[in-house]
Amino acid sequence: MSESRSFLPVSGMELPRFAGIATFARLPWIPLERAEEVQIGIVGIPTDVGTTNRPGARHGPRQIRDASTQIRLVNQATGVAPFHLARCADLGDSPVNPADTTDCLARIEKFVRGVIDRGIVPMSLGGDHLVSLPILRALARECPVGMIHFDAHTDFFDSYFGGYRYTHGTPFRRAAEEGLLDPRRVVQIGIRGSTYDGEDVTWARARGVRIVTIEELAERGPDSVMEEARAIVGSGPVYVSFDIDALDPAFAPGTGTPEIGGITTREAQRMIRALDGLDLVGADLVEVSPPLDPSGLTAWTAVNLVFELLCVLARAVARRAA
Ligand code: MN
Ligand code: MN
Repeated sequence: MSESRSFLPVSGMELPRFAGIATFARLPWIPLERAEEVQIGIVGIPTDVGTTNRPGARHGPRQIRDASTQIRLVNQATGVAPFHLARCADLGDSPVNPADTTDCLARIEKFVRGVIDRGIVPMSLGGDHLVSLPILRALARECPVGMIHFDAHTDFFDSYFGGYRYTHGTPFRRAAEEGLLDPRRVVQIGIRGSTYDGEDVTWARARGVRIVTIEELAERGPDSVMEEARAIVGSGPVYVSFDIDALDPAFAPGTGTPEIGGITTREAQRMIRALDGLDLVGADLVEVSPPLDPSGLTAWTAVNLVFELLCVLARAVARRAA
């Protein structure tokens, strides 16, 4: 750990959890210009410029940070203490532009590129799922990455509204076309619900994407599915993208495009823990929409899944540093 600056969260034993300005998990807030010691950076991306139906995910980062003040130091299930394993900090929010999609994507890419260039692993808080595209543009500019993607939807659609190519339903189609993802190392888990014509699934499968529907997950169980997912992504760099609508709306109702019959929170925790040991290079958690989340349950759920993601990211960072 750095001797010059503490990277540990403020303790709830010292300052009550409802007090102070909310950073993720009460980590220090460190602007990117001064983040040279940081190993894992929390990045808020407050935009829903790609949303096609019910909006509100632009408010996700603030709500997630507020709920995250309850996070403590140690994962009771795995024993991992992420903030002791890696220097984590909240880097604040990426610049965005709510009035112009192209400019918004450019601003996010530039900010995340600054994160990557400093050797910081990004743990991003959406925002709608389109934010994964500029993140991948920054992260995978030299070589394509693999991805484990939890979602009710493939987000491999081609276009909306007569040829419009940039929405939260299209990020991975663009990412595959741009050579940012290696489709043979992409696994999607939890896919379900009604669909259009199935072209998204056909296109992705034809390029080697492994799509695990919710029915297959229910049949085989999370351990078997994750064993296969780990084998598919192998030892190369892997990005993790978690759309909160992968969960059943009973656990996460506050999202724009809920689909019933989804993943439980326990299954999600178990599957994220099964990412331990992979060469994880970044993660995002997207599509939390606070205006659709009056109880705050969805944000609580997201916070705890981000904590699980931080645990496996910190293990990966510590392994690479050793
Ligand atoms: Mn989705
Ligand atoms: Mn999605």
